[in-house]
Amino acid sequence: MKYIGAHVSASGGVFNAPLNAVEIGATAFALFTKNQKQWKSSALTEEAIAKFKQNCQQCHFNPEQILPHDSYLINLGHPETDKLEKSRQAFIDELQRCRQLGLIYLNFHPGSHLKQLDETDCLSRIAESINLALQQTNGVTAVIENTAGQGSNLGYRFEHLAQLIEQVDDKERVGVCLDTCHTFVSGYDLRGLEACEKTFAEFEQVVGFEYLKGMHLNDSKTLYGSRVDRHAPLGAGEIGWDCFKYILADDRFDDIPLILETTQPELWPQEIAALKRFSGLSS
Ligand SMILES: [Zn+2]
Ligand SMILES: [Zn+2]
Repeated sequence: MKYIGAHVSASGGVFNAPLNAVEIGATAFALFTKNQKQWKSSALTEEAIAKFKQNCQQCHFNPEQILPHDSYLINLGHPETDKLEKSRQAFIDELQRCRQLGLIYLNFHPGSHLKQLDETDCLSRIAESINLALQQTNGVTAVIENTAGQGSNLGYRFEHLAQLIEQVDDKERVGVCLDTCHTFVSGYDLRGLEACEKTFAEFEQVVGFEYLKGMHLNDSKTLYGSRVDRHAPLGAGEIGWDCFKYILADDRFDDIPLILETTQPELWPQEIAALKRFSGLSS
């Protein structure tokens, strides 16, 4: 089964996210469980948690169809001790919020070395952050997103994801999310079926599909290999429709949230309908 949706607004409360998802015909969704641009935010109330669970149930969203995303401020590879500690605490809080909501995934960007650490050291630091967080929480899988490799962000090579997984003690609670825009701009071609075949074969070889827990489906405004992260609506960027047809027709992408983070939310209902058609589902 293909689960198809978008990163929807949780404004007014997390319980609005499933309602916003259903509105656009989604069978999956992503959300922030707190304000993604702030360190501090108030704890989830019992009432908000209950309403979230109730709305998910009513709208037929199971935990495996939901991919929460953490705050953009968190850097689990931060070179400075105090800032690293702040990030680690915030990440644990995010995992706990997911757990409270009955969710099983937390999607996050690995981290940045800020030109103060080499890549290998920074990756080890990120893996240590993941280990510490998993030790202090339950039930939620840490889902590492591949990045565009902009600035000093790590995670732009499949090898980075593999090196992180290798150093995480609890392999049952670590996974990855591939963003098609990030994959493409970081130098893995997705233009056309042959290119997709090759890129995902490389992913299988280096990381393995057993770790794939979600996808972000975005086209790219920027060029192949540019390492600049600018999402575009599907078919309106450098990647083109073939890649999305390929993914929706391939059962290696079954049973995980496939999430649009494209730049024109008014197009989401159409994009979701198109993706459903590619997967053989009626929209
Ligand atoms: Zn993404
Ligand atoms: Zn992006």
